Parts: sequence; structure tokens; C-alpha cells
Amino acid sequence: MSAALARARRDFVAAVERRNPHEPEFVQAACELAESVMPLVLDNADYRAARILERMAEPDRVISFRVCWEDDAGEVRVNRAWRVQFNRALGPYKGGMRFSAGVTPSVLKFLGFEQTFKNALTGLPMGGGKGGADFDPHGASEREVMRFCKALMAELYRHIAPHVDVPAGDVGVGSREIGYLFGEYSRLTNRFEGGVLTGKGLTFGGSAVREEATGYGVICMLINALEHHGRGLEGQRVAISGAGNVALHAAEKACAEGARVVTLSDSDGTAWCADGLDAEQIAWIKALKLERRGRISEAADQLQGVEFHRGEQPWRLPCDIALPAALENEIDDDDARCLLDHDLVALAEGANMPVTAKASKRLREAGVVFLPAKAANAGGVAVSGLEQSQNATRVSWSRETVERRLHEIMRDIHDDCVANGGAGTVTDYFRGANVAAFERVARAMLAYGIV
Ligand code: NDP
Repeated sequence: MSAALARARRDFVAAVERRNPHEPEFVQAACELAESVMPLVLDNADYRAARILERMAEPDRVISFRVCWEDDAGEVRVNRAWRVQFNRALGPYKGGMRFSAGVTPSVLKFLGFEQTFKNALTGLPMGGGKGGADFDPHGASEREVMRFCKALMAELYRHIAPHVDVPAGDVGVGSREIGYLFGEYSRLTNRFEGGVLTGKGLTFGGSAVREEATGYGVICMLINALEHHGRGLEGQRVAISGAGNVALHAAEKACAEGARVVTLSDSDGTAWCADGLDAEQIAWIKALKLERRGRISEAADQLQGVEFHRGEQPWRLPCDIALPAALENEIDDDDARCLLDHDLVALAEGANMPVTAKASKRLREAGVVFLPAKAANAGGVAVSGLEQSQNATRVSWSRETVERRLHEIMRDIHDDCVANGGAGTVTDYFRGANVAAFERVARAMLAYGIV
């Protein structure tokens, strides 16, 4: 590495840290992008003159607001909520809403930043945004969740619109919450504007395959990448963390493609099945987690061949492919060592930034086929983009049409990563995704002048 490149990276990291104190997740995401794209920036006088990287690392705006609501006992509750409108160079802000006790401005800024580049990779006209609240839905009753969603929308509706900002779901926000949010938006505005939220129910403007799209898309990307390296998914042991939207649909698809899904987990621990869960078992767990809102430990009581490891993550158990699909930074350097001890072949990031910077570097340097979240989990927002297209033209596409488009988009993302990922024996998808996405956003920003 040249001295100039090392200095530019160091200066960028120092400036991001200085401007964003106490925001470690955001600093981590911005610095991971800079690691890949700094050589391009140094080589391009226009990028340097326009301070393109510094501008990308500042959100357009962060809206912060109070959400007051009443719980079932009649007590007043006060939560904090945010919408980060990060970058609209390529289209209206687009990104999910997260409800979790751990939501902070740092987490939402990192997610909004990542979303900008992920959306760019899809090739669809979407900018980047993210939002959420420090509301913990665990243990909340159906009515409490509804009251919270309506109270949140009482402020959020001022800041969103189909051509402005289009939220969707994320952790803690599924089709139930999107229904409540959309109902309240329609009531407050007296308009039926399908294109203001995605992930809607099929009877009121939702798209076929949206619910499955992120998990299915991850497996699509994994199959493309394995084939590119002369391998296949069939018979491979896939360890998946989480048991939410992304994890369960990835498990369903992986199993259909002949892989052995050996784990699923939740915040209580990991369900382990050495031979691999079959389709029926996965369907049972899907109903348990998404409909009955139960705990993964129940799978061990009810399903043959399943053991429960309380308080443990899947990463110490043997597997060929790791698919983290729960939380950011869930795989640390020790976990990475364990995965390598078990001869890990590939890792696909279902969750956003689920691998710490150190662990990511270790795995990539060891020759693991590493599929970063920007590319691997872009299928969800891609189908959200297709939902917006259907809403704008007032048509509904068939399941087959949407699934075919999803496959094409994931194939194009894969090929873009390969084209920009350098020429090693193992493709550098991390660099490929960052470079391809950065170039798209940067070119649009340059065209707009200084805004
Ligand atoms: P869900 O809320 O549907 O599921 C999250 C899962 O993670 C739950 O099973 C939850 O368990 C589990 N979990 C939470 N905390 C822990 C923990 N400490 N240890 C182990 N498991 C834990 O979220 P999604 O599936 O939608 O999102 C998962 C990830 O994928 C996030 O990073 C999200 O940003 C990303 N993503 C989601 C997209 C989507 O379309 N939904 C699109 C692209 C990315 P519990 O039941 O105990 O809460």
C-alpha cells in the first residue's frame, strides 16, 4: 500500500470518528466502505475536488421525535424515534424501520449509510434511508403494538411520501406493523398512497414474494457465488442465526436447494440439528416464530433430532457455510477462528454488518467466499422497489414474474461484484460490492454539482 493511500485512509477514519463521537456502528460502516474505495478516490481528481467521500458520510438529515402512547394498564409510555434520510442521489429515500430496545442514532445512521449503497447495487431508482424506535415489542400485546405504530405515524407521516421517503420493515417490524402504519398514514392524509410504504399485505398493494425476498435473495447470491467458484450448495451444512424474516426464508430456500440447515437461533439460544432440518420442521419453526411468536427452544421439545443450546450462538458448531441473519456484529474474531477451525467455505451476510471488522478481515484473508450484506441481502429492498413499480402503475405481478425479476437482480449484483472485485482465485465480493455501489452513487452526486 502506498504511503499516500495509507495516509488518506487514516485521515478519513480520524475525521469520521471526530465528527461522530459515540457512534461506533456508523464509524465502522463508513470506514469499511472507505477501505475499498479510497484508491478510486485518490485516482480521480473530480471525486477529490468534490469531496465525494466526505459528503457521502454525512446524512442529508436526521429527524428525531418523541412517541407517546398508552399501555394496556393505562400508563403513559414515552419512546424515542428517528428517521435518517441518508442520501437521495439515486431516488427517494428507501429503507426499513426497526423497533428494538437497542436502536440508537448510530445504529440507524450505519443502516442508512449501508442502505444507500445496497440500493445502488439493485440498479433500481432508490436512495438510502432508515428509521426506527427504541420500542421493544417483546411482551407487548397486539393492542399495544397497534397503539405504538399509530402514535409513531402521527409524526412520521409529515416526512414520508412515495416520491420523498418510503419506509419498510426491519427487525421488530413485519407485515403486522406495516399494516398498522399504513392504515394510520391513510387515515391522517385521507389518501390511499400504496407507494408510501413497502412490505404491505397482498390485499392492499403489497407485492408477491416481498416477505420471502431477503432470505431467498441471500440463497440466490450464495448459489451464484458457489457456482462461480466451482462448488454447489447441495449437501452443504448451513448454520443460520436468527429465526425472523430473513433467517427463516433463507432456511426454507436453502433446504429446497438441497442444503442441510443445521441451526436457527433467537435471543435465547440456538436450535441445532446435526442432520439438517427438513422442510416440514422449518415450516413448523416458521409458524412458531412468525405466527405464534414463540421461542426457538420449543423446537427442541417438539421436533426430532433437534437440541437446544441455551445462551449460545451457532458459530462454535461445525458447518460449511455461515449465514448470520440476526444482528450487527454478532460474529467476532473468536467466532471467526472457530468457523475457520471447522473449514468454513463461505459466509453470506443475511443481517446488516453481522461480522466485526476484525473478523471480516480474518475470514476474507483466509480465502472464505465472503458475501457482504450490501450484495447478499439486497433482495428484500429489490422486491420493495418492484412493489413501488407495481403501486405506481396500479398492477399486480404474479409470483413467477416477481421471483424471476428477483433472480435476475441477484445475478446482476453478483456479476457486478465479480467485475469490480479484482482477479484473485477467490473473488473479493467485499471490494466488488463497495466499488460498484460507490461508483453509481458518486457519479450521480457529481452530476448534481455541489448540493
Ligand atoms: P426479525 O425481527 O424478523 O428477526 C430478528 C431475529 O433475530 C429474531 O429471531 C430475533 O430473536 C433474533 N435475535 C435478536 N437478538 C438476538 C440475539 N442477541 N441473538 C440471537 N438472535 C437474536 O428481523 P429480520 O429478519 O427482518 O432482520 C434480521 C437482520 O436482517 C437485520 O440485520 C436486518 O437489518 C437485516 N435485513 C432485513 C431485511 C428484511 O427484509 N426484513 C432486509 C435486509 C436486511 P427474538 O425472537 O428472540 O427476538
